[in-house]
Amino acid sequence: MAKRGQTYFCEICRQKVVVVEGGFGVLVCCGKEMSAVGTQGMMATWTTAHHRPVEGVTFVCNICKQKIMVVVETTGILECCGQRMHREEVAVR
Ligand SMILES: [Zn+2]
Ligand SMILES: [Zn+2]
Repeated sequence: MAKRGQTYFCEICRQKVVVVEGGFGVLVCCGKEMSAVGTQGMMATWTTAHHRPVEGVTFVCNICKQKIMVVVETTGILECCGQRMHREEVAVR
């Protein structure tokens, strides 16, 4: 289960996402389970300090309500709970 603030990346296309709202679903990209990063201290620090998301693109799972924010966007297809995640553009208010 994904945890809020956890970063995941796809080993195939290098897409990187941050969990905004945790869900019970498993994040999948390119048909493969995404890997959690940030468990080793260095990487976690680097990710939060230098890689603040600028795009504001999020994806939501309609089943478990897991929400992720894209840090590095690729053409890889994000899935959760066996379905494609729903893309949302966050309006800046
Ligand atoms: Zn899900
Ligand atoms: Zn991918």
